[in-house]
Amino acid sequence: MDLNTHSDLAGEILRESRAGLWRVETDLATGQGRLYADEVMDELLGTPAGASPEERFAFHIGHVHPEDAALFRDYAANLAENRSEIVYRYLHPAAGEMYVRCCGKRLPGGPGVLATGGIHQDISDVIPLERDGQTEQWLAEVNSNLRQEQVRQENYYRELLDVQNCGLMAYTLPGHRVIHMNAEALRMYGLPDIDEAQRRLNEIVSKIQYPDQDVVEKLKALRTQSDSTVDYECIINPGEEHECHALAQTRVFQTPSGDRAVVTTFIDISTTVTLKNALERAEAGSRAKTSFLFSMSHDLRTPMNAVIGCAELMERHWAERDRAYAYLQKIKESSGFLLSLINNVLEMARIESGKEMLRETQWDVRELNETLCTIMETGIQNKQLEFHTTTNIQHTKVICDAMKVREIIINLLSNAVKYTPVGGSITMELEELPCDREGYALYRTSVIDTGIGISPEYQPHLFDSFTRERRADEGNVVGTGLGLSIVKAFVDVMGGTIDVESEMGKGSKFTVILPHKLAREEAAPATQDEKAEYLVVLAGKRILLVEDNELNAEIASTILEDAGLTTEVAADGAIALAMLKQAAPGYYDLILMDIQMPHMDGYQTTRAIRALPDPRAQTPIIAMTANAFEEDRAAALAAGMNDHVAKPIEVPKLMRAMARVLRG
Ligand code: ADP
Repeated sequence: MDLNTHSDLAGEILRESRAGLWRVETDLATGQGRLYADEVMDELLGTPAGASPEERFAFHIGHVHPEDAALFRDYAANLAENRSEIVYRYLHPAAGEMYVRCCGKRLPGGPGVLATGGIHQDISDVIPLERDGQTEQWLAEVNSNLRQEQVRQENYYRELLDVQNCGLMAYTLPGHRVIHMNAEALRMYGLPDIDEAQRRLNEIVSKIQYPDQDVVEKLKALRTQSDSTVDYECIINPGEEHECHALAQTRVFQTPSGDRAVVTTFIDISTTVTLKNALERAEAGSRAKTSFLFSMSHDLRTPMNAVIGCAELMERHWAERDRAYAYLQKIKESSGFLLSLINNVLEMARIESGKEMLRETQWDVRELNETLCTIMETGIQNKQLEFHTTTNIQHTKVICDAMKVREIIINLLSNAVKYTPVGGSITMELEELPCDREGYALYRTSVIDTGIGISPEYQPHLFDSFTRERRADEGNVVGTGLGLSIVKAFVDVMGGTIDVESEMGKGSKFTVILPHKLAREEAAPATQDEKAEYLVVLAGKRILLVEDNELNAEIASTILEDAGLTTEVAADGAIALAMLKQAAPGYYDLILMDIQMPHMDGYQTTRAIRALPDPRAQTPIIAMTANAFEEDRAAALAAGMNDHVAKPIEVPKLMRAMARVLRG
């Protein structure tokens, strides 16, 4: 390469300014440098005649003043990326030490070659200072000023990148050296600075998730292509505190130093994604609600139609006693189903709102068998099913939520009855398993039937709410598809497990394993004739029934009067308060209080009663309400009521509660 091609005039000017031209080519594969020079440059270097570019390169490096060698190396390295300038000392083989101003920049090079070039000027004679300590200081100042100017420029470009609201990250492909990461990229990655980015680069990049699987292949392909880009969506730090959804564009380019580098720009779309997800959830929720309403309205309508239809038929055939009685039985049956449906829905709502809690009391595990035998009796009689139970337990007294345990088993047994054809058999096995938890016992209850079985496809959905298999061989079995989801939820709250084995046409086996705390004391003996006892306590008592619904008031009064009580009805809270104030203390023995009423609700009325200045303030009050949740019970007690009974009224429960409150 000949650098002596400039015009005579230019050559003259350069010579007079003692400025030579140079070009360095570095082979990127081997790192070998070649220095090309014009005549002036060769003179200034004192290059031996006939030196090859490689020899000239080595000769020049070998003659840089040892004290400025480090400075020169920095400059040379920097040239690859930025236009740079330096003043350094050169040891000319003939003329001795000279001061050289060298400035250069990157030039276009061929493939695999990094080319730089510039001017090398002898400025020894323009330096007014002697060769003493001051010269070195001057040299240091000149170079430091040159460097500061360069740093200012670099900072300016970095700041320009930092004020962008898109992230930018660039790193070299071999070596993964971070070239730059702007402020937005650091924020999106949750990184404090570029040093930390460098330390964790591989970890961060390997964790990025791509919703579109093809992107990974496309990004890999970029390594071997230039001038192409990949646009994609990605999740940075998935599942972590700094999770960030981004729209990104990546391209691979060649750095001035010849490295291949990946540069990616990102736009943070996390807020959009959050909103999109929230919208999808809301839509799914709304779809679930609609399907819930559809199934509810269908499931409620079926028994409701039976009640209305039978009531009408009963009215029409009122005179035919037996027929009317049969319709009455059907009405009772359907309304019983309706009530259990409503209870199940409430139960599900409570479970789903996370409000389900255990009400643990002392209980004898053997009661499970006794109660269930009576419960199953009718079903078994109607279908001529055989029913077997086996019990093998050591500990009988436990502390648990017996209501829920019973409900689990009742659900499993009623399913067994429902889905087992006439003549089949049902077995319930109760056994105690070895338990290594101190103070606990483990019970396994299996309900085995010889019924229609459950298809393998449906088994995974068995415990989902509102799902039913709906097979032709189920016949006209009614159900809500809620039973097993409630069972599963109860088993979960109690820390137990439930499993099913089933074969189509052969039968099913549901196995529940529950841990129960062992009771320390013996349970108090059950009351022999509780009913007789509460009738004695209640006999002749006067009840103030506060109820705004006329029909409910009539039903309640009839039940109470049948049990030997006197009742007076108040149509709302304000009327009740007025009646109580007018009556002598002790006139009313007990108040049954509805909660939702116009004018003055049950809570307000109770608080007003409790605030009366005389013994009437102490009149026992029992809430009687359709608000059947545990929180409603707590709210009633908090308002000053003595107890809470859920509607629809179950007579023995109401009587028991009244007797308990009156006994004090
Ligand atoms: P359902 O009120 O419909 O009985 P469940 O949640 O109790 O609701 O049961 C869901 C479905 O599981 C039932 O509709 C039925 O298809 C199936 N199933 C439950 N128990 C049995 C069983 N013992 N034998 C056959 N199928 C059963």
